[in-house]
Amino acid sequence: MVRGEAVDLGNVPVVDNHCHGILRSQRFDGAASWRGAFTESADLGMARDHVATTAFHRRLIRTLSAYFDCEPDEETVLAARAERDTAELTGELLRSANVETLLVDTGYPPPEEVLSISELGKLADCRTEPMLRLEILMERLLAKHASLDLVKEALTAELDDVRGRGYVALKSIVAYRTGLAVREWTDEEAEASLREFRRDSAESPARLAHKPLLDTLLHVAFAQATRQEVPVQFHTGYGDADTNLLLGNPLHLRAVLEKPEYRGVPVVLLHECYPYTREGGYLAAVYENVYLDLSYGIPLLGFGEMLSFTGAALGVAPISKLLYSSDGIGVPEVHWMSAMDGRHVLGLALEELVAHDELSISGAEAAGESILRGNAIRLYQLAPDT
Ligand SMILES: [Zn+2]
Repeated sequence: MVRGEAVDLGNVPVVDNHCHGILRSQRFDGAASWRGAFTESADLGMARDHVATTAFHRRLIRTLSAYFDCEPDEETVLAARAERDTAELTGELLRSANVETLLVDTGYPPPEEVLSISELGKLADCRTEPMLRLEILMERLLAKHASLDLVKEALTAELDDVRGRGYVALKSIVAYRTGLAVREWTDEEAEASLREFRRDSAESPARLAHKPLLDTLLHVAFAQATRQEVPVQFHTGYGDADTNLLLGNPLHLRAVLEKPEYRGVPVVLLHECYPYTREGGYLAAVYENVYLDLSYGIPLLGFGEMLSFTGAALGVAPISKLLYSSDGIGVPEVHWMSAMDGRHVLGLALEELVAHDELSISGAEAAGESILRGNAIRLYQLAPDT
């Protein structure tokens, strides 16, 4: 028993394997509007009346007050925040978070609303790499090409050389749209689904949530990703209010994971599949090509819950399959606090393994470094010589 010995990951730079852009405007019209960045709820009263009472928000205020060296109340913290413009705030926070690389899902928020990834990289003094969100590409191609065959052809061509086009990974939000139980459909079913999509998009911009059509196009993307061994990130579990959390359980991916043709595609289950972390850890334990992302910004959780999901992941998944992320979006606070929380929580969770003689202190520190950066560098081929 070596309880008391600390696993110190404080100086390990992070490779944030999944985050989003930061809004060009960091001006918020009052506290409730700022709090809107810290809830997945679409209910207006949530930000106004309830978000400030979450463990996440209390921790955020206290962490920011320590950073700004001011009183730990929301009003004072917001006043200190407002003294900085977007570039100052983003640069300051992200540099202090010791971020080595940000892998950015450029699909949301819309590119015109956020700092470009090169601006973000300059401010944060880190490397940034984009990831391609599949459903947005599909919607663009559906608007451009008439028949299903032409859309499939165009999608195949667009995904012909993913890395050559500058992307390190693909990302799917099918969990939000029609659920993770992606299956195969006949040509007739896919064609009928396309006709339904055309009817639904006659008046307003198209939102691809037509299961046979979306599943069919995903198979085109999976085939290309497999051929190039490009990782595919799946949103799983916790998400905004339009997700059906039952269909976001990663066990629904079984049909895709079992397909012999796809065994070469690295699959990354995002957001620790919260609350299905054990299910995600199990998949990472039984499928060679499945990885589990541990996201410490969003879901917006209390410290104890982060410790708990980290313990659950470490308890079943190989350390070599775990990846750090923030899922930070819109405001720099989430990218920033996540890096500190991730190092801290992971250190404590690894100490537990040391206490039970599963790891030595040096082994735990090496494991922490793998999860915070090394595994992602290998998986996304980020090393300079690859
Ligand atoms: Zn995300």
